[in-house]
Amino acid sequence: MKVAFASRNPGKLRELRALFPEWELDPLDTAGIGEEEGETFAENALGKALFARRTAPPGTWALGEDSGLEVDGLRGAPGTHSARYAGPNATDEDNLARLLGELAGAHGEARRARYVCELVLIAPGGAEYRGRGTLEGRIAEHARGTGGFGYDPAFVPSGETRTVAELGDDWKRTHSHRAAAAEALRGALASGQAASEVC
Ligand code: IMP
Repeated sequence: MKVAFASRNPGKLRELRALFPEWELDPLDTAGIGEEEGETFAENALGKALFARRTAPPGTWALGEDSGLEVDGLRGAPGTHSARYAGPNATDEDNLARLLGELAGAHGEARRARYVCELVLIAPGGAEYRGRGTLEGRIAEHARGTGGFGYDPAFVPSGETRTVAELGDDWKRTHSHRAAAAEALRGALASGQAASEVC
């Protein structure tokens, strides 16, 4: 099925294509969407899905994804601001550097963190399906590894000693917050359990 995806983030696109190989994912330029304004990942994912629905040709499914990192010692930051933590035009490297800087000297509980991913899929008829996934872990002292994207070089999942960037894309495909959200979304679709209807 054809699915318009409201994001051009190459890391997300690569991972979602691997998680939904049967979908034809068509990334949309989100320049017209503006800054995410919701307070939660769920609100932002819905906003992106509605943008995809407005922009894509009729008959297309619409997918919105919002995700980010919550760090306990930073009272949940960067949260929904994860993509621009170091400023409006920040790169992944800038955001990572700010994160490690903010946590310099922090130990134990303060370094506890989780990734969150919310997916919202709207069917051509308007039924809205959702999936949420999280991944618990901690922020490492230094960046390590080259896989994944974003904060992955600093994120060590619970029960692991390596960062997600060291564990790599195959590990992410089965263990990540995005993989968990995809599984939840698949479950909702399979059971026909729409969260609500969009007009
Ligand atoms: P947004 O959902 O487009 O606002 O951006 C999410 C931001 O959260 C990304 O730019 C990354 O900084 C971060 N993020 C989300 N998922 C991941 C992930 O799987 N690995 C590393 N960083 C992530």
